[in-house]
Amino acid sequence: MDFLPIIGRRRDGGRHPEEELWQVAEAAAKGLVPDYQLAAWLMAAFLNPLSEEETANLTRAMADSGERLDLTGLPKPWVDKHSTGGVGDKTTLVLLPLLAACGLTMVKMSGRGLGITGGTVDKLASIPGLRLDLSPKELIGVARKVGFAIGGQTAKLAPADGVLYALRDATGTVANVPLIVSSILSKKLAGGAETVLLDVKCGSGGFMRNIEEARVLAHWLRSIGERCGLRVRCEITDMDEPLGAAIGNAIEVREAWNVLSGAYLSPPVRRFRDLCLDLAGLALEAAEMGDRARAEQVLASGEAASRFLAWTRAQGAEKEVPDGLPTAPVIRTVEAPRDGWIAGINAATVGQIVVDLGGGRKQKEDAIDPRVGVVLSAHVGMEVFLGQPFLEVHAADNAASRDAAKRLEGAITFSDTPVDPRPALLEVA
Ligand code: URA
Repeated sequence: MDFLPIIGRRRDGGRHPEEELWQVAEAAAKGLVPDYQLAAWLMAAFLNPLSEEETANLTRAMADSGERLDLTGLPKPWVDKHSTGGVGDKTTLVLLPLLAACGLTMVKMSGRGLGITGGTVDKLASIPGLRLDLSPKELIGVARKVGFAIGGQTAKLAPADGVLYALRDATGTVANVPLIVSSILSKKLAGGAETVLLDVKCGSGGFMRNIEEARVLAHWLRSIGERCGLRVRCEITDMDEPLGAAIGNAIEVREAWNVLSGAYLSPPVRRFRDLCLDLAGLALEAAEMGDRARAEQVLASGEAASRFLAWTRAQGAEKEVPDGLPTAPVIRTVEAPRDGWIAGINAATVGQIVVDLGGGRKQKEDAIDPRVGVVLSAHVGMEVFLGQPFLEVHAADNAASRDAAKRLEGAITFSDTPVDPRPALLEVA
């Protein structure tokens, strides 16, 4: 394939005819051009963003770069969810079993971590034996049995996104509205859902840094989603501070399990749990299957926890979570350096520290250390006292834990006067 004219058109700010966007998706999915040419096109598309029409065409081409799942025969409503990515965002692990327990069918394709944002596939890979490379037939089989299924990108489902996503991560081309929209919606179209709940993260730890940018992304997701035949519900949620207490892979799975199983929850985990219930309520309303109160009742009944375990078994897990989750050899507790109220916990800095501990990738081939991360015991607005244990670093060795602990001091700011906690749900867009 002669890809140079396509790169040139994007570089010069021209408009791609529809067939060129199909060629981009095909080139990525089938490996028809070298990575450096795709990377050059991505950088050109980052600097000269695609129009709405081009984005809709690229989305459909990426969705059709593999099979589309046919959910016929599974109980309706067919719902899916996706987040634009954040630090400590493990909502999928709670929402899917919870919504399945409420009667929704959910087949979700998840991604690997991107930049400082963690990915569901990487988190789930910390469960020994759990398979994410399911074929379309296997995904449908699991969803029929358990009510939901989660797969990673394979050669069968939206393979073009699998390739472009990994290249974007390694070329600084993630935070671009049309590229994010086509990446997310191509996966949702390939997954066969009719209604999708899209969580736009807003703040230092997400790709949209402020509410205005988040509203633009929400508008594009809705508009392109509708052009492609999806019913889209968007909400904007806070990502200025990390979500929940744990930021890492295995430790996030453990935290999600604590929420599902009704264990004691620290204040940041309660903030995460409340957001999961808000989002579950929105999904149930969109599907006309109930509301937040229903989600709360189902969570308390233990049915969501049972679904989660049934699901891990159905996808091959060797043991029942949390057994078998790997743990870090070094856990360093950090004490509060002063009295005061927490004024800010910079999600971007915390996310970068977790990547540097080995919990994320710097290059697309990098292996992830599932054991490492950071656990916070307070959120913004809480009062803390000098010497109180207020976070943990989970690291592969002492030197890494010392370095991370030092850098974390710079990520947290204090106030001498009370500070309001930040709402986790900012807007239903
Ligand atoms: N999530 C995705 O699936 N794709 C993006 O580009 C960003 C977040």
